[in-house]
Amino acid sequence: MKDKDSINIKDLSPQEIQDFVRDNNLQPFRARQISKWLYKKGVTNFDEMSDLSKEFRDFLEFSFSLEPSLQLVEEQVSEDGTKKYLFKLSDGNQIESVLIPDKKRNTLCISSQVGCALGCTFCMTGTLGKLRNLRPSEIIDQYILVNKYNENSITNVVFMGMGEPLDNLDNLVKVINILTDPHYLALSPKRITVSTSGLVPQIKKLGEQVSVNLAVSLNAPTDELRDEIMPINKRYPIKALLEASVKFPVPNRKYLMFEYVLLKDKNDSDSDAHTLAKLLRGIKCKINIIPFNEAYPLPYKSPTWDRVLKFQEILMSYRINVRIRKSRGSDILGACGQLAATYPSIKVTETQTQI
Ligand code: SF4
Repeated sequence: MKDKDSINIKDLSPQEIQDFVRDNNLQPFRARQISKWLYKKGVTNFDEMSDLSKEFRDFLEFSFSLEPSLQLVEEQVSEDGTKKYLFKLSDGNQIESVLIPDKKRNTLCISSQVGCALGCTFCMTGTLGKLRNLRPSEIIDQYILVNKYNENSITNVVFMGMGEPLDNLDNLVKVINILTDPHYLALSPKRITVSTSGLVPQIKKLGEQVSVNLAVSLNAPTDELRDEIMPINKRYPIKALLEASVKFPVPNRKYLMFEYVLLKDKNDSDSDAHTLAKLLRGIKCKINIIPFNEAYPLPYKSPTWDRVLKFQEILMSYRINVRIRKSRGSDILGACGQLAATYPSIKVTETQTQI
């Protein structure tokens, strides 16, 4: 008979699987066998783990579930090749993942929460409020399924989909460990980027546990403006955010990244560019400028291309490494800030979970 409290085995970190094996007086290599079947072979049933004894498979079946955590609802392909995947969760909520092909890279943008509590005013996900954190199995299955649909071609992972990854820190760390462990998915930490809107204490905690690329969603050169477009800034202002960010242990030969969504007539003036350059003076970093993608009901407009180039030119005049991130998949609402899967069964209200 199955233990009624059994959890999905993919919610366990590599260390937790080792602990399970040890606590049950099994030989250590059993942990590697389990990881091979789960993450290299992608089985969805314990009976498929054919080099395990029937007794051991029954024991796993008794202890855990191995239910698929995601069901593909729809795949949309943009004219630029970007693919957006809409997944349904077991509770009926929906999330999105986006695969962005770019020369030799195939980058998967992963969601970490259902909705988001932070309410950045340029982001569709922020209009939904936060319903809940995604479990590790729901996060890692985005990678496993999209990789399978695309002939195992994912090269990079960015946690920039729906939700604030650092508001789901424990599960994020588990997933990063599953992605990077040589016996699991064996992805280089240099190919993983976590984006944050600026949860300062969690930046420090993440850096104590893993070394991956960090992208800070900055979007304003002053507290006054950042307070207005990113409410989290009222709790963790720019000075505290920069102090925490520069201490973050990015991998060797990698740079701290700042994301700057350019909003027409809001944060895109010459003066904003000069102030931003002075703010980041002395910080070893790269800046990604992201021209805003218009999407109803967000209140902003896209900047003109001339304005984008001028903003870049000013930053470069300060010898800052800056690049314009092309909008990808905007025709399928798959571009940065446009993700907002619908929730067929639940009405979202503003009073839902606060951080
Ligand atoms: S930009 Fe990120 S942190 Fe801000 S509301 Fe959107 S998902 Fe949340």
